[in-house]
Amino acid sequence: MGNYRLYCSECKAAFDDVFLNICPSCGNAGPLVRTDYQVSKFKPLNLPGFWKFLPWLPCIEWNDKIRSQTIVYKSNGLSKELGLNNLYIAFNGYWPEKDANMVTCTFKELEAPPTFQRASERCIDNLVIASAGNTARAFIFAAQYFDIDLYVVVPKNSIYKLVLPFQVPDNVFIIAVNQDSDYSDAITFSGRMANALNLVPEGGARNIARRDGMGTVMLECVHELKRLPEHYFQAVGSGTGAIAALEASQRLLSSGQYLDALPRLHLSQNQPFTPLTDAWNNGSSELIKIPEDKQRKAISEVFAQVLTNRYPPYSVGGGVYDILNTSEGSMYGITNADARSAGKLFESSEGIDIVPAASVAVGSLIQALESEKVKADDTILINITGGGENRLWEDHDKNKIEPDILCDSTIEMDDLKHALEACHDQRNVR
Ligand SMILES: [Zn+2]
Repeated sequence: MGNYRLYCSECKAAFDDVFLNICPSCGNAGPLVRTDYQVSKFKPLNLPGFWKFLPWLPCIEWNDKIRSQTIVYKSNGLSKELGLNNLYIAFNGYWPEKDANMVTCTFKELEAPPTFQRASERCIDNLVIASAGNTARAFIFAAQYFDIDLYVVVPKNSIYKLVLPFQVPDNVFIIAVNQDSDYSDAITFSGRMANALNLVPEGGARNIARRDGMGTVMLECVHELKRLPEHYFQAVGSGTGAIAALEASQRLLSSGQYLDALPRLHLSQNQPFTPLTDAWNNGSSELIKIPEDKQRKAISEVFAQVLTNRYPPYSVGGGVYDILNTSEGSMYGITNADARSAGKLFESSEGIDIVPAASVAVGSLIQALESEKVKADDTILINITGGGENRLWEDHDKNKIEPDILCDSTIEMDDLKHALEACHDQRNVR
């Protein structure tokens, strides 16, 4: 069916996409399933936004109303400050002067639309996601353009920080879970909810549409530079964006059109919560076990909250450990103070504000230079995963995201079901 099939790197099974994000033979413990596209050459189409990479997205059609895209340009400001001669910025966010048009100011806007498009082509009528912020905003953005109900599970303490430059559409249902829950709790809860209520989990890191959507950051870079970068910098929470960047690089190299090496991944987290950095720098292929209360305390001290996933796909086949190995990559831990000053340096030298996670990535670039992991003439791509929030609010009004249901994570699933039915009835009357 369609322009691609899925395959499993472990048992080598190839299968059609029925919106199943796991290998039918290897099951939940199997590696990340990957996409094998019929079109092997990299040939962007004349379509708006990231849809120009449609031959390498897991859908057949595209949605004309969504025009989000990454802007890749050669740095003039930050590069001078750091003494780099070939620094390229992949800017994801709102910066109309540069044609950057992501109204949620985050590169998650690249993963949500292909997820909806893929789901709608497979006659899926609902999706469940868990998020502490960016993913929720990006999925609510995409939901506006599809006839699919979206259930968003958000920790209660993050929901009130969420604002959008548009109204939450009628097909979106927001479930806020109790006060002390974090992103990881929301993930657990959404899994239980999908299971009990027979809803469709979007798949997280296992969702090929998310990964191939975020992989367009690398495609946009190569479209612009006509080569692969030698180094790729990104801050990571789950690491899905970095996995996507590596998979896209491998696809580009398999096309036979480029003679470059695979880019080295330079991934960063925000101290004191750095599970991926700690595991990698300890040479461990498993995350290091740390008591939950210690993890929660560390998370509460982190500047870039979106980077605090307690269950990142590290040891799964094709996950963060594997991509670091494959790309001879590095992991960095950046303090809040260093992230803040790196963010300020970016803003003053490039002329746009960036989100805390992107500031962490800039901090890691500075660290890599100091430790001579990159040199002045190297071709470097830094993924500014979000930016332009201050710029956005100059042009748009803020709409708060209000929960439709506020509940404790121990709620009986039958009660939740009834509460959701009541929400549906109310919307139908409207
Ligand atoms: Zn398999």
